[in-house]
Amino acid sequence: MRKITEPAREIDVIHETDVLVVGSGPGGLAAALASARAGARTTLVERYGCFGGNITQVGVEGFAWYRHEATIDSEGIGPEFESRARAMGAASPEPQSLSHALDAEMFKHVADVLVQEAGIEPMLHRSFVAPIVEAGEIRGIITESKAGREAILARRVIDGTGDADVAARAGARVRKTPREEMMSVSVMFSMTGVNKQRFIDAVKADPQTYNDWKGGGEWQIETTGKEDEMFSPFLRKPFKQAVKAGLIPVSLATIAGTWGAVSDQGDLTYLNLIHLAADGTDPADLTRSEMEGRRQAVHAVEALKHFMPGCEGAKLRNFGMTLGIRDTRKIDALYNMTAADVREQGRFDDSIGIFPEFIDGYGLLILPTTGRYFHVPYRSLVPQGVQGLLVAGRSIGGDKVSHAAVRNMMCCAVSGQGAGVAAAISLKHGQPFDRIDVGLVQAELRRQGARLA
Ligand SMILES: Cc1cc2nc3c(=O)[nH]c(=O)nc-3n(C[C@H](O)[C@H](O)[C@H](O)COP(=O)(O)OP(=O)(O)OC[C@H]3O[C@@H](n4cnc5c(N)ncnc54)[C@H](O)[C@@H]3O)c2cc1C
Repeated sequence: MRKITEPAREIDVIHETDVLVVGSGPGGLAAALASARAGARTTLVERYGCFGGNITQVGVEGFAWYRHEATIDSEGIGPEFESRARAMGAASPEPQSLSHALDAEMFKHVADVLVQEAGIEPMLHRSFVAPIVEAGEIRGIITESKAGREAILARRVIDGTGDADVAARAGARVRKTPREEMMSVSVMFSMTGVNKQRFIDAVKADPQTYNDWKGGGEWQIETTGKEDEMFSPFLRKPFKQAVKAGLIPVSLATIAGTWGAVSDQGDLTYLNLIHLAADGTDPADLTRSEMEGRRQAVHAVEALKHFMPGCEGAKLRNFGMTLGIRDTRKIDALYNMTAADVREQGRFDDSIGIFPEFIDGYGLLILPTTGRYFHVPYRSLVPQGVQGLLVAGRSIGGDKVSHAAVRNMMCCAVSGQGAGVAAAISLKHGQPFDRIDVGLVQAELRRQGARLA
């Protein structure tokens, strides 16, 4: 490949802060809130025009669709997202669980309010492009925006980009799932003009279960058996009928998945039906998948209009602002979580929070219907190879099966809250991340309402 040399240049330091959080998904947003609430001057940098990550940018609304009567759930900022959204009219009952689906659009405003209330310095429309690293310690970041290249200095940095962008570029050890094994990417979309009564009547007349997920390919799943007969808002039949009728191409027999909520106004949201193979860190793959995903979604809308009662007069409302990415880089942390940790109720002295036994991905679906849960260890947030940096959200250290658990948004909020508190404590007591007094972190987390054991 041809190369050019980028000339060195002086850039403005536009801002200095104590804790800098990069990326504002459930991980980064929770990290910024926890850090600010623990008393640190906190700044939140986000490349798009709203906070919330996959919730607001992709339209992932099922925040706790795993929750059933016996579930022992996380506590702290994660459930606060849900309760605050409910209080602000930004959530509605989720059809398969004892939880509320977030309204992806209104949650943009909910996140703004949370950020403002906590006194966080908000910085939207700035993309992280390079770390500032001195003697093996991260000292800030360089951003790129309409204003050009700018520097932000910080005493501690939290990587909430989902893809471990900051960690990877700062020299931390990271691992990326091989492309052929990566969880799929999805173009999410919503429809409007749905006749809710007809739609719900049709769902009730032919209720789908998690057993119906088992359809081959992407949908080759293993459960514990107890999930099989439970109701799932799953759609495959309309697409099969559309293929059979010649309405959509045979190659789109892959279309299947879940719907999230249907409103009285006729909005059918969080349509998670399109699944494509791609590497979420490769812009060429991302370009192809955005365009192919939209093409497939348009076919899916046609199929629903013809073969799903209630959708006859409906139309596309919106695509997610961006493609949904599930699985890219993870840090090689001081401790990498394992399948055994999430499947056998892992217990850790350095727990920063709990998450129910909910595993969804890599062919596994286990729902927390029995009260089993695991601890998330602090060490899984600490990258190796660079100082001053923690990771929050789906890119914390762990294997594939543990990823299928910790990638869930509630768990991302758990690791985020842990990272935010740890950053504030690390500064307050002058302790580096790899030698922090975890007891102090745990005390502040308890004060903030997290459940650790
Ligand atoms: C289609 C789909 C459906 C899903 N369904 C569910 C579900 O039903 N329930 C569930 O719990 N989980 C679900 N997940 C998983 C879940 O949404 C993610 O694992 C979770 O959102 C990850 O949180 P995060 O904070 O780590 O990252 P993200 O939510 O991805 O947030 C990362 C943030 O960082 C920002 N960012 C990235 N790079 C930069 C940069 N260079 N500079 C500045 N900002 C940057 C992004 O814009 C974004 O705001 C789903 C995922 C997908 C893709």
